[in-house]
Amino acid sequence: MSHVLRRSLTADQPTIVKGKGSYLIDDTGRRYLDACGGAAVSCLGHDNKAVREAVTAQMNILAYAHTGLFTNEPAEKLADFLIARAPKGTGEGRVMYLGSGSEAMEAAMKLARQYHLERGDTARTRFIARAPSYHGNTLGALAVGGHAGRRAPFAAMLIDVEHIDAAYAYRMQRDDETEADFALRLANQLEDRIQAMGPETVAAFIAEPVVGASLGSQPAPAGYFKRIREICDAHGVLYIADEVMCGMGRTGSLYALEQEGICADITTMAKGLGAGYQPIAAVMASEKVINAILDGSGKLWNGHTYMSHAVATAGAMAVMQEIEDRNLLADVKRLGARLEKGLRDHLGQHAHVGNIRGRGLFWSVELVQDRETKAPFDVKRNLAGRIQTAAMQAGVIFYPSQGCADGTAGDHVLIAPCYTSTEEEIDTIIETLAQVIEAETV
Ligand code: PLP
Repeated sequence: MSHVLRRSLTADQPTIVKGKGSYLIDDTGRRYLDACGGAAVSCLGHDNKAVREAVTAQMNILAYAHTGLFTNEPAEKLADFLIARAPKGTGEGRVMYLGSGSEAMEAAMKLARQYHLERGDTARTRFIARAPSYHGNTLGALAVGGHAGRRAPFAAMLIDVEHIDAAYAYRMQRDDETEADFALRLANQLEDRIQAMGPETVAAFIAEPVVGASLGSQPAPAGYFKRIREICDAHGVLYIADEVMCGMGRTGSLYALEQEGICADITTMAKGLGAGYQPIAAVMASEKVINAILDGSGKLWNGHTYMSHAVATAGAMAVMQEIEDRNLLADVKRLGARLEKGLRDHLGQHAHVGNIRGRGLFWSVELVQDRETKAPFDVKRNLAGRIQTAAMQAGVIFYPSQGCADGTAGDHVLIAPCYTSTEEEIDTIIETLAQVIEAETV
């Protein structure tokens, strides 16, 4: 019997002993092509030499020195890198490091509150986020998340957060509505909600630039985030961009928000930042937020023991350097175009494929019982989970989710391959998914 408290206490799990390129290898020698990087984490594959060497080298000289007293070189270098490439408007921002996406979201929420307190705007305690969305599993992050199933058992313990609709074109854009009209209608939900709550009570709006697992790699309609930025600015509300899943190159630009032409006041990032080699997340505060603190207490009212860990930041710096030196963003765009075309060619006309959406190397296939009515499959059938199991038997790993249609029903399968994938691997991913969907939807 295992003494690890696993996600399932009853299911048998293979033991992974090695990573090789885009593959994970178990203790029986079985190879799995990782088509989703776990959860959009392993963007450089599983045996990147430069990152391994950077982590080992840092471990050999310094692992840990408490941030109450010291800084360290890798943390400084990585912050310089991230700020230098941040979306225009971020200015002389600063970066804090944490261990997980959830921790980063908690820290971002507290930073937003600190910003307002430093300016004497004491009534701003409330957050507006979107549904569906996922922002993590700690209580604050879970509270701002809009995932009904994950929230349910803990609902009685969560802070009160307002949710507006995520811009989910497949189910929400009206037939008589242009993309621009749809973008405006959905973004204006924020304006209405801020007015209803009282602008002076709202601390921040939280949204993923490209929605990850909860909705299936859903980009926003053109113009949506420009309008969001205007509304936030008009009411003194901060915008927190959760780039934990969609950031660090996954959508073809280092920051997903670059493609929307705006900048956030606070940005969180995690998965692709460490690429799985080290547990690391970051919160980037823009110059506007930093100036409020500099003009006020001059102190960060939040801290954790493992902030700015030297080995974690050295690993992440090497990941960023690999992405830049090898021009991997160009590969994300090239391979992403191949993935999109392949998915559309193989699955675009399938009777049970309702929608194929995504950007860069971040794609999802939403499955429906009926293409005409868009009716989802019965939740109990667990179609997305069955697709994952069947694909794993065929040696390819996908990320399944349920709940996109109404919070509970709606199956989709997320694809987030390594930026270092070969074209053959991309083709295998497409062909395997098409075969498994065909077999599981009869
Ligand atoms: N935000 C987003 C968009 C995520 O996808 C996730 C995790 O999937 C999180 C936050 C939480 O990150 P973590 O699981 O590292 O706590």
